[in-house]
Amino acid sequence: MRKKVIVVGAGPGGLAIALRLLGQGHQVEIFEAADRAGGRMRGLVQGHYHFDTGPTILQMPQLYDDLFASAGLQRQDYLQFTRLDPYTRLKFWDGTQLDLTTDRKQLKQQLAQFRPDLPQALDRWLTEAERMNQAGYEPYLSQPARSLLGYARLDELAAVLSFRPWETLYQHFWRNFQDDRLVYALSYPAKYLGMHPTRSASVFSLIPYLEMVHGVWHPQGGFRALAQALAQAIQELGGKIHLRCPVQELTIQQGRATGIRLGSGERLCADAVVVNGDFAQAMQSLIPPAHRGKYTRAYFANRQFSCSTFMLYLGLDRCYDLPHHQIYLSEHVRRRHRPYVDDSALDPIDPPFYVCNPTPTDGSNAPPGHSTLYVLVPIPHTGYGVNWPDHQQSYRDFILDRLPELGFLNLADHITTEACHTAQTWQEDYSVYLGAVFNLSHTWLQMGPFRPPIRSRQLDRLYWVGGAVHPGSGLMTILESSKNAAKFVSQDLRGAA
Ligand SMILES: Cc1cc2nc3c(=O)[nH]c(=O)nc-3n(C[C@H](O)[C@H](O)[C@H](O)COP(=O)(O)OP(=O)(O)OC[C@H]3O[C@@H](n4cnc5c(N)ncnc54)[C@H](O)[C@@H]3O)c2cc1C
Repeated sequence: MRKKVIVVGAGPGGLAIALRLLGQGHQVEIFEAADRAGGRMRGLVQGHYHFDTGPTILQMPQLYDDLFASAGLQRQDYLQFTRLDPYTRLKFWDGTQLDLTTDRKQLKQQLAQFRPDLPQALDRWLTEAERMNQAGYEPYLSQPARSLLGYARLDELAAVLSFRPWETLYQHFWRNFQDDRLVYALSYPAKYLGMHPTRSASVFSLIPYLEMVHGVWHPQGGFRALAQALAQAIQELGGKIHLRCPVQELTIQQGRATGIRLGSGERLCADAVVVNGDFAQAMQSLIPPAHRGKYTRAYFANRQFSCSTFMLYLGLDRCYDLPHHQIYLSEHVRRRHRPYVDDSALDPIDPPFYVCNPTPTDGSNAPPGHSTLYVLVPIPHTGYGVNWPDHQQSYRDFILDRLPELGFLNLADHITTEACHTAQTWQEDYSVYLGAVFNLSHTWLQMGPFRPPIRSRQLDRLYWVGGAVHPGSGLMTILESSKNAAKFVSQDLRGAA
């Protein structure tokens, strides 16, 4: 008999596991609080302009192909990907710049301008990174977290130790390049994890490596189209997505998750429940205190959470012929003390920032001759108490004044519509605990066996999927977590009465 699975939340993790479970023949219903699917990537519309709200960088396209294939579908029938190459322009504090590209020759030519031995250093690093990928990706990122005792297996130990996992990301890149520009250029993906390179583990050097090998891609129609494509596939396979349906709590009987209670009071039963809502938020709001195990208020109060992001979504009556992804790495990214390393205070002087200029690649988001811009600035999460109603307008004006650093001149004269997200928006409108958009920080003590697991240890038939659980934040890792979550659900439901 088909088993019924309820998924709480239609974020990337919830959509991905729903599709996989439908592919395995289960009956799936998603309950989503917002009025559209996608979670942080649900996007927003202002007049004729369409904006991505969260993710803009798509890595490892094969993971999406695999996801659709798990349900017997072809990703290309739902969504097209465009490769961006060069994929990111980085502008440094000293006025120099680097265009990251998968074209090795072009990349080396640029590096040789920085220092003649850097092209060779790149080759050495790529060899080391390939070894790290072989030793690390499949066993540690693609699989459920191992137990603490079984974390490092003896037969893998030599390979694992050879890439010095104890190094920080900064130490790893400095050992390879001894040039701060390259160190920060390659460690900027640590920001996806809400981490400073001097505080994050060297294993995250896998991200720039995977980008360099597999490229950086853009889904046509934006990430909101990715959300819609997943939602469409789910519905075509008979899955149901209930929007504007906040779940009030999980129902529990004899140590087992048995269903949900909606805001309307209605109760629904299921053979298994998967929660995709942000772990810290959902644990403290959906699970009765007696069933939270160690995940008490004190647990969360003692954990480290990522930064939040200040976002400007701008509709413009002109286009800028500038790269799709640009990052301004200010002098302040090199500071190694608070508040710079942990984003514990607003930087009102020289913050790093990122701008996505999608219209030249994808005209679907604005009327002809117009364009959209997406500006992201790392900011403190709400636990650091910035009073956003007092700061939002002045910070917006300040950031607009900084945009010429990335070539956006006279921008203010061309804004026809705009929206802004602060840490408070992420917390209140997207149900993200503390507005910490990259979830629990990826410190050594909050990764692997220390990160919340996918299969609940407190309650049977309860599973978690998303950026807060193993292996971590970001679409690539969430797709891996949804694969493992689907395996656990199926294993547990097989043969269940
Ligand atoms: C500004 C920004 C930029 C980013 N850039 C990138 C990038 O370029 N590349 C990348 O890979 N990642 C990026 N990320 C990270 C990525 O967006 C997140 O890791 C991802 O969205 C998290 O997905 P999730 O499935 O864990 O949860 P979410 O996206 O948070 O989705 C959870 C869903 O659950 C719903 N929900 C919560 N509680 C309830 C309830 N009680 N009842 C019903 N529904 C509920 C929420 O409304 C939400 O829709 C970015 C994130 C942000 C915010």
